[in-house]
Amino acid sequence: MSIEILKNNNGAMEVCSLIESYGHRAYCVGGCVRDALMGKEPSDIDITSSASPDLVAEIFSDRGCRVVLSGVSHGTVTVIYKGKSYEITTMRRDGEYRDCRHPERVTYVDDIEVDLSRRDFTINAMAYSYSEDKIYDRFGGIEDILSGTIRCVGVAAVRFSEDALRILRALRFASVLGFRIEPDTKNALIKSAEMIGGLSRERIKHELDRLLLGNHAGDVIYEYSDVLSYVIAEIAQCKGFLQHSKYHSYDVLGHICKAVDATPPFLHLRYAALLHDISKPQTFSLDENGEGHFYGHAKKSAEIADRVTRELRFDANTRDAVLRLVSHHDTPLPTEHRLIKRRVSSLGAETFSDLIRLCRADCLAQSSIVRYRLDIYDEIENRFNEIIDSKECFDRTSLKVNGKDIIELGVNAGKNVGVVLSYLLGEVIDGRLENERESLMAEAEKYIELESLWS
Ligand code: ATP
Ligand code: MG
Repeated sequence: MSIEILKNNNGAMEVCSLIESYGHRAYCVGGCVRDALMGKEPSDIDITSSASPDLVAEIFSDRGCRVVLSGVSHGTVTVIYKGKSYEITTMRRDGEYRDCRHPERVTYVDDIEVDLSRRDFTINAMAYSYSEDKIYDRFGGIEDILSGTIRCVGVAAVRFSEDALRILRALRFASVLGFRIEPDTKNALIKSAEMIGGLSRERIKHELDRLLLGNHAGDVIYEYSDVLSYVIAEIAQCKGFLQHSKYHSYDVLGHICKAVDATPPFLHLRYAALLHDISKPQTFSLDENGEGHFYGHAKKSAEIADRVTRELRFDANTRDAVLRLVSHHDTPLPTEHRLIKRRVSSLGAETFSDLIRLCRADCLAQSSIVRYRLDIYDEIENRFNEIIDSKECFDRTSLKVNGKDIIELGVNAGKNVGVVLSYLLGEVIDGRLENERESLMAEAEKYIELESLWS
């Protein structure tokens, strides 16, 4: 295993040697060491040093670098050095944890191994020193990377009781890296799961987002459904819930997990896949032939998605996107050009294209007898792309008349303007009217007259 990627990172090396030139020690630490050893370019570089936060701030601001006192109470300073951002944390030992989140007090130390021992997992508890060209790996992180293992540093039960976020972090790393959680760590994590309830919603969402975006999200959600039910209670009921349908070869949670894995890794799509069938256990019925049905499950799942996205403090755009996808996932997509345009017009182009992606994933997560639908989705997507590429009119903004024109025809500003524009749009989409100003205005006049819409 090689640390080349980090070794060749001149920016990180200069930051460390600058700090060391003041008689201190500085190391790359945590995720960047793990990623470099796995041959991946680290997304961000964390540095830990024996210099106090004040001194770090002074060293870099003296050189004209931007310095952000991001978490100075925990000893963290962010510096922008040659255009790149580095989080520099003073090496510390955590004291007692009072509230399962914040240590009572932190003590700065001058020993990298002490600092490494407070870190969560062995794969995250390694450091690299440029000046010594040495990897510090007291807890066997390299070995655990090689075997694909997530293991707590120290006694797992204690580590989770100190900070319950580590429970979700373990699941997140399992999903992103495709690693297994080692049995002791797994047992302790399951026993401590209730403590997730005490975490802030924002911290939970941050980890759940990353878990969902991982390449192994489905496996982790299935295996750890009991833990995740402390975040979304309905998940537990879905596990093992049989669908009694020839279209389904998995239980509800199995289907959900396959669908999550089959969606492209965008948050709104992954959350939509996670939640699209979440109400199936609540809406289940069996008919006289022994076939399972889930009448109204899209609506009910959208209600649950509404609650979950509020609880987890989603931003409004992502929330709307998830709710739209969940509500519409079970309405068959139209195949005919004119009807596709109608649907695009009512849902918006982005939602329509996302729905195709969700429907594909939904299909891939069912039994093989429905796979023929994939060809149909391809056809729908081709037609949809033609509509977009040829700039065919499917929304009001591309109509060659606007609200002002309608007002000039004598309609009062307000609701009736929209009524006229929607009518014109429908006529254009259905091919009964050209999207040309003159014919639109003539038709608008006739319609206003017919419906008595003038003021
Ligand atoms: P990535 O940056 O890819 O998300 P990372 O491992 O760098 O992964 P961060 O959240 O950036 O994760 O944390 C940086 C390091 O800080 C971790 O590698 C770990 O050593 C330590 N760490 C972070 N959160 C905790 C925690 N809750 N408990 C103990 N150590 C933690
Ligand atoms: Mg990091």
